[in-house]
Amino acid sequence: MTGALAGRCALITGGASGIGLAVARAFRAEGASLVLLDLDPAAASIAEELGETLAIKGSVTRKADIVAAFDAAEARFGPVDICLANAGVSQNAPTLDVSEEEWERVISINLTGVFLTAQEAGRRMIAQGGGSLLLMASMYGIVAAPERIGYCASKAGVAMMAKALSCEWAREGVRVNALAPGYVRTPFLDDLAQRGRLDLDRLRARTPMGRLIETEEVARMAVFLASDQASAVTGQVMAVDGGWTAYGYL
Ligand code: NAD
Repeated sequence: MTGALAGRCALITGGASGIGLAVARAFRAEGASLVLLDLDPAAASIAEELGETLAIKGSVTRKADIVAAFDAAEARFGPVDICLANAGVSQNAPTLDVSEEEWERVISINLTGVFLTAQEAGRRMIAQGGGSLLLMASMYGIVAAPERIGYCASKAGVAMMAKALSCEWAREGVRVNALAPGYVRTPFLDDLAQRGRLDLDRLRARTPMGRLIETEEVARMAVFLASDQASAVTGQVMAVDGGWTAYGYL
């Protein structure tokens, strides 16, 4: 640890589990203070464990909850320098079976939720002279998978949002990048595998590196993008996927 984020304040949505939690741990280890906005009340005990961390219970689908989280961050730690719009849900069903309600659910969390978070972060970062905004896309925003129409469409939207916002806010000092993880070993993935809905051996075989991605590997990319080490990096969609999106053979 190098103290790369010392003195910074970071807001993470969906920070109570999986990738968001791993990023929270990595940001704290690099010296940032944190605000976790999550629906899951478990965020409160995580905040206690991490120290210098505030947990706000709320949804990224409600602008008022997002504003409340930024206000709480500013009141406790000062301006938010780093924001990771990470909260997201999966979706897995043949397209012809996807109801309008299910489509709206996925889009409202994965796409509108990221937009609302990014808009609030951008507003405040522009006013304070800069910041680093990270949006959680997926390799399925770069390449496609069947029976995940809402997921793929929302993540492609998130990847493009990072590019579009980077153009708009670059001269205001706000860098905007997206993360595009491959299959990351999370409790959610293990659960799907245990219920026979995902074949982990097939996923490993399809990945050039021959293995799943660890949450800490995504977190290290997030630390880099959030830090001054990435001072000229904006508008990028960074795949952390063991080579999945590079591979086009067989
Ligand atoms: P996870 O389910 O472990 O964690 C998601 C967190 O988001 C949870 O704490 C949940 O309570 C929270 N959340 C859900 N809806 C919310 C809402 N409306 N408002 C606030 N918080 C909400 O998931 P994960 O696997 O860590 O995924 C995190 C992000 O990474 C998602 O955007 C996901 O699409 C993306 N991603 C995951 C993988 C993977 O393999 N796990 C791969 C690529 C991208």
